[in-house]
Amino acid sequence: MENKQDASKPLMSIGWIIATDERDKAVLSTYRQAHHYLQQTLEGQFPQFQWEMPFICDRRHTQYGALEPLPLLEFGVQEKLSHHWDYALVLVSNELVPRYRPTTFGVPSSALEVAIMSSARLDPQQQSEQLAALALHMFGHVWGLEHADSGPMAVPEEAASLCITPFSPEQQVEIVDRLEEVADARLEEQSHRLGHFAFYWRTFWADPRGIVEDVWGYAPWKMPLHMERLTAAAAVSILVLLLAAEAWEVGVNVSTINLLLGVGVATIGATLFLFFGQHLGDIARHVGWREQLVRTRIVVFSTLLFGMGALWGMLFLISFITTLYIPQFVLSGWVDVPIDTFTLLRYAAFLATVGVIAGALGGNLEEEDQIKATLFYDEET
Ligand SMILES: [Zn+2]
Repeated sequence: MENKQDASKPLMSIGWIIATDERDKAVLSTYRQAHHYLQQTLEGQFPQFQWEMPFICDRRHTQYGALEPLPLLEFGVQEKLSHHWDYALVLVSNELVPRYRPTTFGVPSSALEVAIMSSARLDPQQQSEQLAALALHMFGHVWGLEHADSGPMAVPEEAASLCITPFSPEQQVEIVDRLEEVADARLEEQSHRLGHFAFYWRTFWADPRGIVEDVWGYAPWKMPLHMERLTAAAAVSILVLLLAAEAWEVGVNVSTINLLLGVGVATIGATLFLFFGQHLGDIARHVGWREQLVRTRIVVFSTLLFGMGALWGMLFLISFITTLYIPQFVLSGWVDVPIDTFTLLRYAAFLATVGVIAGALGGNLEEEDQIKATLFYDEET
């Protein structure tokens, strides 16, 4: 089937896993047809790669009841790593439990390079084409594309709007860029016997731009808004301290150097605390070292770090604005240093730092899945 020319092209592999115990021949052949459509479309659109798409029936879930996306994503990661695929797609016939939207067709995760999708809400008459179109949308996200007005990246509001269309030339360029990086990274992946730190270091420098883009894509500055318990814990601690004379006394007397040091230690400490406390590094750990997995950890850790930085910034602003409303004479009764803008700024920084620490402690009460969903879902489609 393959000729010499094909063998010289970089290989891209997408594992296609059916995770529902589906025995209905008609349904399975629909899935096979969808798989075929996807392969055909990708081969047509990206002939510079050799597309390999193994089709696997895993049957781990019964057909009944809705399924949580997170365990399916983690299952996809394990399969992807153990088979050495570049990407994995997990398909179920069950409904998926939505988190943010009333219903969902699927969840792509560019951090994990896995997508999951459900055939439950698709039109049985055109299911194979709709599934393939949905898969294109999913991989569009995994490859870093944004939504567009038309083509595969148009938001599929309803099943009927899903039809197989080509990526636009600009989108194709973006995708080819991404895929070439993946192919190059795989080449370099061979034979490493480095220590942990060196391995992380090398993984980061293998593709710093891509990692920064991925982190940026997560909009970490929005994280405080998604992690409600964390932000609430931080805000409460700040409110209490704003009106406490002793806290003012301590806060305004911390030296600027110590304050800056505190900001760094609190942000990094809070990130580490959440990263390990929430088991965010544990994805498919038993499968062992692989560059992609390490890359995911770097992306997740950096996103969390920027998220904590954003939380600090938000708390700093709120604290500073609030201090402006506390009457001067009250403050002069609390502290014995002159109250000027610089003092207020420093106290706001002190409060924000304490707030980040309180937030991390409170954030560990956050439902683990909530944080994972914030970090791993690109969206609910
Ligand atoms: Zn989308």
